Amino acid sequence: MMFINEECINCSACVDECDSDAIYNAGEEYELNGETKEALSEDYSFIVPEKCNDCKNCVEVCAVDAIEEK
Ligand code: SF4
Ligand code: SF4
Repeated sequence: MMFINEECINCSACVDECDSDAIYNAGEEYELNGETKEALSEDYSFIVPEKCNDCKNCVEVCAVDAIEEK
């Protein structure tokens, strides 16, 4: 699964890049199965695991290598 670490500078490049709508800005609510959920991080952009298909397109656009697989 893909994870955004504390190197993130909240530039939003990956948020725009993700075709699966799996990445959100820090503190942003998201929708899953019709339900509104609280942000998974208040400090950094975050990836919703249930929405991510591991395409890794986001990794390419991150200038600070903050997106890793774990
Ligand atoms: S790996 Fe692909 S689907 Fe997952 S968050 Fe990155 S761009 Fe989105
Ligand atoms: S993970 Fe990288 S591309 Fe995404 S918001 Fe953070 S710094 Fe920008």
